[in-house]
Amino acid sequence: MCGIVGYIGSQEAAPILLKGLKKLEYRGYDSAGIAVHHNGIQVVKTKGRLAELEHKVQEMGGVSGFSGIGHTRWATHGAPSDINSHPHSSTNGRISVVHNGIIENYIQLKAELEEKGCRFVSETDTEVVAQLFDYYYHGDMVETLIQVIHRVRGSYALGIICSEKPDEVLAVRKDSPLLVGISKDGNYIASDIPAVLEHTKDYYLLEDNEIVVLKKDGVTILDMNKQEIKKDVYHVTWDFSAAEKGGYDHFMMKEMMEQPKAMRDSINPRITDGLVQLDEIQYTDEDIRKINRIHMIACGSAWHAGMVGKYVIEECARIPVEVDLASEFRYRNPILHPDDICIIISQSGETADTLAALREAKRQGIRVLAIVNAVGSSIARESDDVLYTWAGPEIAVATTKGYSTQVALMYLLALKFGQAKGTLSDEEVKKLVTELYTVPEKMESLLQMTKEMEELANMQAKATDVFVIGRGIDYAVALEGSLKLKEISYIHSEAYAAGELKHGTISLIEEGTPVIAIATQDSLYEKLVSNVKEVKARGAYVIALAKEGNTEIAEVADHVIYIPTVDDKFTASLDVIPLQLFSYYAAIARGCDVDMPRNLAKSVTVE
Ligand code: GLU
Repeated sequence: MCGIVGYIGSQEAAPILLKGLKKLEYRGYDSAGIAVHHNGIQVVKTKGRLAELEHKVQEMGGVSGFSGIGHTRWATHGAPSDINSHPHSSTNGRISVVHNGIIENYIQLKAELEEKGCRFVSETDTEVVAQLFDYYYHGDMVETLIQVIHRVRGSYALGIICSEKPDEVLAVRKDSPLLVGISKDGNYIASDIPAVLEHTKDYYLLEDNEIVVLKKDGVTILDMNKQEIKKDVYHVTWDFSAAEKGGYDHFMMKEMMEQPKAMRDSINPRITDGLVQLDEIQYTDEDIRKINRIHMIACGSAWHAGMVGKYVIEECARIPVEVDLASEFRYRNPILHPDDICIIISQSGETADTLAALREAKRQGIRVLAIVNAVGSSIARESDDVLYTWAGPEIAVATTKGYSTQVALMYLLALKFGQAKGTLSDEEVKKLVTELYTVPEKMESLLQMTKEMEELANMQAKATDVFVIGRGIDYAVALEGSLKLKEISYIHSEAYAAGELKHGTISLIEEGTPVIAIATQDSLYEKLVSNVKEVKARGAYVIALAKEGNTEIAEVADHVIYIPTVDDKFTASLDVIPLQLFSYYAAIARGCDVDMPRNLAKSVTVE
């Protein structure tokens, strides 16, 4: 959350900063702003979406200058307003700062600076960085930044410019993402690759508290003792077009449609002779046999993917799996056995709570395996082993292909662990792999149901509450389907284990309340049919998901969506498609911004 960019080079900075921010808008869209070196520093910022800022810059006849910083905000401290928008400046206007993160001791620092006569104008934690920087500044930017770093606590990715140093952009990060893009025509800082991809595919990754001095013709990276650090250059493998809408109305639709390909990319290279082979990780069969317990740790949809993992891994490999929310795990003083492992799931690889949970596991000496989409992200780098989900860039705030590929990795781990432990014979694994290969194609057929799902969603678009029920893996998918609906259509929705509904929540079912019943586990199908009868008897309007051939459910449900038959273990990948489409069209029918839902942002880098 929060996107920052910075540029210095031979081109006009403002258009580059604005374009970069456009690519980062998924990270926050409460306000946007830029600061450019131009006879001092010129700051333009405004509440609202980036379009408002573009408009403002246009009205001013543009902003001229060859270096600057930009920000798109997801507010943590202070309401979204013009004054709280970034960049924040020192009172004398000498220093301008953009920030992603939270300065935890800002109240104390603010009081201290106020006593020295500083006058604050915003409610943000960030302003304290600008004022403090200015207070310490005596001509040496790097020296000043080191002093500031020693004083602030919390998380930060910072871009800083000084009116007295028009040939410099300064940056640093701690626990918030930031990368450095390098090219012949200029150099960049950015929270994420899409912001610089139009200009360069070469970049450096930064460790905590590495200081970046960006100049027109070069980049210097220093440690806190001002010693220069030599870095390897990373190279982005995907294309600029991968982060474009490509003819679709929304990134979400494009990304839903990319799911079959992303599944193939994540699964196929990891199968050899019909068996799962995970060459990227250092686990021997002996290591796997020794695993006492798996702690699956994640937030949001990744947590739901972990839930699918629990069911599939326990079933295939008979290893107990606990699924934890990262924000709870990190502060719970979790009980971990030396032979436990942690599986950390995060699309961005920068999720603040998940990263902290990873560090807690490592502090306790537990081996950590990460499932991550963003190559070279903090979680990928700090884990003992990484399995990448090859989903490509995901821009829509609501995840689709990110989730699906995480689920794919859950399958592969379940099969691999089962294979190594002997709880699945090679023949059984080969049979399941053959079945798994059919999943992307079946996803493709479900993705053609746009018309049916649009009609259904239009019918239910006025609903105020929706319940999604299922048992076993179907329950794990219900959690994801329900979240998708809430986050983009703002319809209140709850996921319930179907057997649990009658222990209280069924009292909320009234005439016409929509209930989505997922009944795709063969062994639990009849139980689900009974649960559908229970809610029907109380007036619910039931939309059921069932496997082709299981037609009895049509006698009790109001509408049935049939999914192609597949082994029970892999149903999650198919069930989720109609649920995503339903949420998408419900959001459209309700006039919501599908790609940038209110109050949300992708890549949650604050806790
Ligand atoms: N704490 C800063 C603010 O509220 C930055 C927020 C963020 O990075 O999400 O403006």
